[in-house]
Formats: sequence, C-alpha cells, structure tokens
Amino acid sequence: MKLVTSVAGMKALARQWRKDGRRIGLVPTMGYLHQGHLSLIRESRRRTDVTVVSIFVNPTQFGPNEDFKKYPRDLKKDSAYLRKAGVDCLFHPDAAEVYPPGYRTYVQVEGLEDRLCGRSRPGHFRGVATVVLKLFDVVGPDLAFFGAKDAQQVLIIRRVAEDLNLDTEVVTCPLVREADGLALSSRNSYLSAEERKAALVLSRSLRWAERAVAAGERDAAKVVASIRAMIEAEPLARVDYVEAVDPGTLEPVAELHSDVLIALAAYFGKTRLIDNISLNV
Ligand code: AMP
Repeated sequence: MKLVTSVAGMKALARQWRKDGRRIGLVPTMGYLHQGHLSLIRESRRRTDVTVVSIFVNPTQFGPNEDFKKYPRDLKKDSAYLRKAGVDCLFHPDAAEVYPPGYRTYVQVEGLEDRLCGRSRPGHFRGVATVVLKLFDVVGPDLAFFGAKDAQQVLIIRRVAEDLNLDTEVVTCPLVREADGLALSSRNSYLSAEERKAALVLSRSLRWAERAVAAGERDAAKVVASIRAMIEAEPLARVDYVEAVDPGTLEPVAELHSDVLIALAAYFGKTRLIDNISLNV
C-alpha cells in the first residue's frame, strides 16, 4: 500500500493509473476505521482496479464548538487495517496541504445543506461538499463510495457531482450496524458503557417505526412523535431532531408513502449520534 501525503503526489499517481487504463475507486473517510468503512472498501475493490482511501479529519466541516480537536485518530492502526483490507493507496494529507494559506473557495448546495443535520451544524455540509470536490479533483476517481449512514451527506455529494458535471459515479453503500443494532461510527468510541447501552434506543425506535409503517401507519407526524417520545424516555438521551422527509429533497412529508427517509440525531452526553432508515412504503 502506498502512503501519499501531498496533492501533487496523489495527482501524479492517479494520472499514471489512468494512463495504464486502471479504474480508480475512492473511499473518503476521517479515519478511526471500522466495519462501516470496510464495507465501502470491499465494494470499491469489487468494482474498480485500484482503491484509494483518504483519511482526512476535515477542519472546515466542524463548527467552533464541535469535536475537531478530540476527534479520534489512530493512523498506525488505520494503516494496518487498510493494508490488510487490500487497499492500494492511503491518501493522508495534512490540513495545510488541503487548505493552504489564502484558501477561499467553498462549495454550497442550496436548499439541501440547511436541513436535518445542517440545521444544528451550520456550515458542516459546506465543508463536506468542498473537501469531497477537492478529493474528487485530486484523485479523479471513476467511482466514489459513501455510506447510507450519512444519508444527507451522500445526497449532497450526488447533487454536487451532477450539478458540476463530474465524471465520478457516486455509489451509496448500506448502513452497517453492530449486532445489537447500534450504527457503527468512529464517535461511538466517545460513549461510556451506560451511554452506549442508552444509544440503542435510536435503532430500536427506527425498527419500531419500520414495523408501524409495515402495519399500515401512514401519518408521518404520529410516527415522528412516537420515535421522539421513545428517545426522550431514555434519561441519557437528548433529541436533536427526528424527521420524516422526502429522500430526494429532504423536505418533511406529511404522509408516509413511496420513498421516505426517517432521519434523527441525538446526544448522549456530549456525543452526537445520527441514525436513519429508508422506507419504501
Ligand atoms: P467518516 O469517517 O465517519 O467520515 O465516514 C466515512 C464514510 O464511511 C462515509 O461515507 C460514511 O457514510 C461511511 N460510514 C460511516 N459509518 C458507516 C456505517 N455504519 N455504515 C456504512 N457506512 C458508514
């Protein structure tokens, strides 16, 4: 596995691969890798000739009071994990390589970036869209792999790729959960044993919603209120939002029909977790 830390080095390597006719897959991550990331890597290896994983804790997607400084990092462990997974290249630039002094250009996706997580994390998706566009430019992937865990993120990146006529195909991979239902996340490492147990309410409430809809419930407000009540009944949880939205526009829906995304975020102590479920009613 090649370790590349410079933009110029990554561009040169990708240029050579393209010249050799190899199809490039990119899996952007912030590191502290887990099975969720691994599922994207596997899909990339299955569908492309060379897989690049980027590890970059992107400062522009963190708010001033968020966890940028303490976001978990373990490059040694991650490198070993990626090598074992058969990844061809780890792209690991530092912040000054991605945002050199004088940097001023940002990507905004109007109408999508201020909903759901964007409402409680102003500027977050501007940072995400910007860094992903930059990664696409540097690596020039044929395919790029993202997890359905971050449903709003992948929708926004799809929009960027389409609106800016990018040559990269955006692939969404299924959300990976622990055996007990907790959605895998690097941030789970922040949770105490009690908080981790309490956090199971998120997947439990979404599974309940899935069953309610399967049993014929169509009133979005009712389902959302019940999910909220289930989470609020957990003393260690604090709801950020629960919404049932159109998965293409993220606009709230009144009735549960055709495709619906139920998305939520909640705090357990200082840790903010997200989860979601896509329903085809
Ligand atoms: P992160 O390192 O958290 O920024 O995530 C990097 C990529 O992995 C994103 O596309 C995420 O959606 C994806 N990812 C993170 N957790 C999961 C999960 N539990 N299941 C599927 N994909 C995930």
